[in-house]
Amino acid sequence: MTPSPKPLLIRGGRVIDPATGLDGLRDLLLRDGRIVAVENPGQIKAPDAELFNAKGLIVAPGLVDIHVHLREPGQGYKETIATGTSAAAAGGFTSVCAMPNTVPVNDSPEIVRWMQAPERGASARVFPIAAATRGSLGETLTDYPALKAAGAIAVTDDGKPILDDAIMLKALRSAATLGLPVIQHAEDTRLTAGCSMNAGALAFRLGLRGMPVEAESGLVERDIALLQQVRNGHLHVAHISTRRALDAVREARSQGLNVSCEVTPHHFALTEERVGLYDTNAKMNPPLRAESDRAAMIEGILDGTIDAIATDHAPHASHEKEQEFDRAPNGITGLETALGLAIQVLHVRHKMPLVKVLALLSQRPALALALKAGSLAPGSATDVVVFDPAEKWVFHPADSLSKSKNTPFDGWELQGRIQLTISEGRITFRR
Ligand SMILES: [Zn+2]
Repeated sequence: MTPSPKPLLIRGGRVIDPATGLDGLRDLLLRDGRIVAVENPGQIKAPDAELFNAKGLIVAPGLVDIHVHLREPGQGYKETIATGTSAAAAGGFTSVCAMPNTVPVNDSPEIVRWMQAPERGASARVFPIAAATRGSLGETLTDYPALKAAGAIAVTDDGKPILDDAIMLKALRSAATLGLPVIQHAEDTRLTAGCSMNAGALAFRLGLRGMPVEAESGLVERDIALLQQVRNGHLHVAHISTRRALDAVREARSQGLNVSCEVTPHHFALTEERVGLYDTNAKMNPPLRAESDRAAMIEGILDGTIDAIATDHAPHASHEKEQEFDRAPNGITGLETALGLAIQVLHVRHKMPLVKVLALLSQRPALALALKAGSLAPGSATDVVVFDPAEKWVFHPADSLSKSKNTPFDGWELQGRIQLTISEGRITFRR
């Protein structure tokens, strides 16, 4: 991406940078793709700069989403890297980590490089996460050193778990020698075959087979036991959704193990009740859980156990979602609703300070996967988001920049609206 030729002065905004602890009125000067100055209002003299009036708005580091399905290569009818990252920019994200369950599976350095090539037309930084095993079949490890050299920042078989103990141990060991996290989609599929929602009274009433919480927590506990045998290993639990799994993470961390985890906005904003009468826009994996699990996600966010909010943006074409509940594919889009949901649920309802909410969407996910992103400190690359924290707006999927419209938040009133997104010095979204 070529940086904007003209410098940009963002004036009069409330600058919140969780990475440096800054929260105050500041002006920000962006030049040649870098943040060159963050000063008190009126201090920066840059007559050649374009002005952006940020009065009443928040200026923060560009948001970082560590769990996104961009669907390329292979499934461009659902999403492309160009459309997915346009939706990311509209949602305030400047960095996205792309999951490897593409067609073919991203298990080679060639695909890792292909995804990052300028020809993909990305409107955000794309950090590929490579498959942990060949074809994500859970049998043979991929070439971690070569994948890392090509740009992969972690390994995972997301969508599928690594079930075999010996293979998971090997993955943790091999990744540890390279400083790569192993991201696990924690689902013991021996307990979830044929299941399409959370186990419980509602699934019973709807006549659907339900996934028990133990399918998630059991695998997280197994992975933690394996991690104890690995020097410098790092386990990252994707889209955590149950109290039991979160308790296991909390306990492991108290023992000094390097376990991080992320939660999706839908798992802290919704419960299984949203399935209603077989609404496939409420079908995802892990499934929406019971209220007690949702409440546990909020507790985990508030007490710091949860490191990051990640969307698990999973676009699907309408014809795929418009079929019987148990046959429809899992997943929902999430890039354009994440900030609004986080502000509404965490900041407005649970009084979490905005600096902490923003940390979960920038500094902390970047730290969890060791990405160079998520700060406004002078010298940082120019990834900036400007938004109105008070503006209420209604989300209409028809206005979404994603190719797909599968969302349970159609018609929801959200709070906090993106005005400007700058990724690598380039304006990628402007309302
Ligand atoms: Zn997953």
